[in-house]
Amino acid sequence: MRETRSTCAYCGVGCGVIIESRGGQVTGVRGDPDHPANFGRLCTKGSTLHLTAAPAITRQARLLQPMRREHRGEKPRPVSWDQALDFATETFAQVIRDHGPDSVGFYVSGQLLTEDYYVFNKLAKGLIGTNNIDTNSRLCMSSAVAGYKLTLGADAPPSCYEDVDHASCLFIAGSNAAWAHPVLFRRVEEAKARRPDMKVIVCDPRRTDTAELADLVLPLQPGTDVMLFNGLLHIMLWEGWTRPDWISRHTTGFDELKALVRECTPEVVAQVCGLAKEDLFTAAKWFATSEATLSLYCQGLNQSTSGTAKNAALINLHLATGQIGRPGAGPFSLTGQPNAMGGREVGGLANLLSAHRDLANPQHRAEVAALWGVPSVPEKPGKTAVEMFQAAADGEIRALWIACTNPAQSMPDQATVRRALQRAEFVVVQEAFATTATCEWADLLLPATTWGEKDGTVTNSERRISRVRPAVRAPGEARHDWAIVVDFARRLEARVPPPQPSPRGGGSNTVDDVALPPSPPGGGSGWGHAPDPNAARGPTLFPYPTPESIWLEHRDSTRGRDLDITGLTYPLLEQSPQQWPFPAGASQGKPRLYEDAVFPTPDGKARFVATKYKPVAEPRESRYPFSLTTGRLRDQWHGMSRTGTLPRLFGHVAEPSVQMHPQDMERRQLKDGDLVHLTSKRGSIVVPVQASSDIGLSQAFMAMHWGEEFLSGCSSTGTRLAGVNAITTSAYCPQSKQPELKHAAVKIIKA
Ligand code: SF4
Repeated sequence: MRETRSTCAYCGVGCGVIIESRGGQVTGVRGDPDHPANFGRLCTKGSTLHLTAAPAITRQARLLQPMRREHRGEKPRPVSWDQALDFATETFAQVIRDHGPDSVGFYVSGQLLTEDYYVFNKLAKGLIGTNNIDTNSRLCMSSAVAGYKLTLGADAPPSCYEDVDHASCLFIAGSNAAWAHPVLFRRVEEAKARRPDMKVIVCDPRRTDTAELADLVLPLQPGTDVMLFNGLLHIMLWEGWTRPDWISRHTTGFDELKALVRECTPEVVAQVCGLAKEDLFTAAKWFATSEATLSLYCQGLNQSTSGTAKNAALINLHLATGQIGRPGAGPFSLTGQPNAMGGREVGGLANLLSAHRDLANPQHRAEVAALWGVPSVPEKPGKTAVEMFQAAADGEIRALWIACTNPAQSMPDQATVRRALQRAEFVVVQEAFATTATCEWADLLLPATTWGEKDGTVTNSERRISRVRPAVRAPGEARHDWAIVVDFARRLEARVPPPQPSPRGGGSNTVDDVALPPSPPGGGSGWGHAPDPNAARGPTLFPYPTPESIWLEHRDSTRGRDLDITGLTYPLLEQSPQQWPFPAGASQGKPRLYEDAVFPTPDGKARFVATKYKPVAEPRESRYPFSLTTGRLRDQWHGMSRTGTLPRLFGHVAEPSVQMHPQDMERRQLKDGDLVHLTSKRGSIVVPVQASSDIGLSQAFMAMHWGEEFLSGCSSTGTRLAGVNAITTSAYCPQSKQPELKHAAVKIIKA
């Protein structure tokens, strides 16, 4: 039996795992006792990962060879990798020649490894010359990114998991961590058991399992978080609970914010948020006057048309009370996906560049162009997730490359997404699983490796980089995501010659200067059929024989940046996962940022952002009288392509349902299990209803995971649709462009 240390494939807690394998098969998984994210623990999803790699599931659910569809609606037929990538190259080159580089788009995933992300980003921005590359992390963390940058000056979560053990007040907002980040929540439970006087405040429209631990629950009306946070600041100011000297020494912009929150009186806030005034006072007092207050927050803040404002308004509270940069104190966004952080680090979004550089900054564009050895990086902002599919639906983007994500289920407003996939002239889907809804729209299917097979790195919520390592060979003809991109890029270079390399970066295929990892057992060129460096033609921007060689280039790009990791190596990460920054010469990463109260802004001061409350994009009204919120289940992950293969993971919640308050059901003469039409302006699905007094009147909740095999429905124009995203809105935050998946106005009528 072999044992391989790696990382869980699911959420942003980033738990370390030990994969057990025998005879080329994964046979077991257990928590890595030495990994600082989980110290050996795993949740239900993580502890069943090995079962998702069983041979029967691989045979039934995995994509095992490249497939091409001559015409839409036909069954795809197998082709060789050469045929598949030549076809992709010819088609992309033709579209680019005919319509320019912005006529293609790449939609990738927070589940890709950092190395995969890096080469996708370089392919789009460095070789093709378009910034049309975005990721499902846009649906997950982009409001947190924008919030951090606006207030603290950099996209860097300042806190760490250990802060849970030091906090005397935990402020959990828009996060059902008990289900979405279970192993971290065990740490919260233990801290509360050890120190019962630690205050726990939970702000969420629903009374979730997380709220069971709370000393104070604030069941605010959906989308009113900014009003709540501004109201708490109003009380803190009135009661003298802010820290004026800290504010004047370390921040700017407080006077404007002070003027703004003057109108957020407890009476107004209680009325808008639907909360009791005395609870507002209690929350403000505990937050401000506790020895150390740690905020944990997630999609309830991010997936909103006010996502950036919500993040900034919460960080304002930390700055006003000096609750930052000390053990147990600070704002801490919890990452949804396993490597949303790594994607941000390599700049794999439409508005970012490598190593937290900004596309809008000419100096940053020049730096990245020099690093890559290309004359320039295009200036025009790329299309973000919602914009990209809208542009494809409008015929502006003609070729789409989708990797490791399932937009035909997970994007909001599915009617538009389906129009986009239908209208696009060429859709490439690079995927491990053959069962995702998006595969049905692919002209070309490229089989990718997945957990247990992949090699690279990921970064978790607390900035900790871990190694992901292969335990077994890729099944069938599946290839690593990075290797597919590199192979395609080299073929594209042969048709569209790369720009003349500058002295730094790019250029040669020589691999002498990169440390090659040992060959996998059984020999061969590497797990998942890495590209043969000797087969490459002439100078290339993609001279990568291994994921490590990509990572080394990424590492170099971070030199002098806030996330400097020039002191790290693969071997060091294999010994022990490390937090960034970790510059050359450092002996360890930084668990906590801003301990010196110096922030990465031009004047070194954090910035208050005056954020005015705005209601949700689609307030409920007489024709659509319910607020629909969406969220995760404990034992399922995203579109269920992996977790849905295991019957035991349906033991917790067996089937889809929409939850309503019992009084709302009674008024509509509904009982548990009745089928209802759940309808918004965009579409309708039929789903069983379930009573729940955990949600308020005029509210409804549905989990995000259920797709076509569980739920049918249609758009307002009759297109066949499925899942809750037939209903959700693509209205997005103007700063972060993150859509408001957490709220849609709906009607609920007995079917
Ligand atoms: Fe995996 Fe997240 Fe569960 Fe840890 S908490 S085992 S990372 S799903």
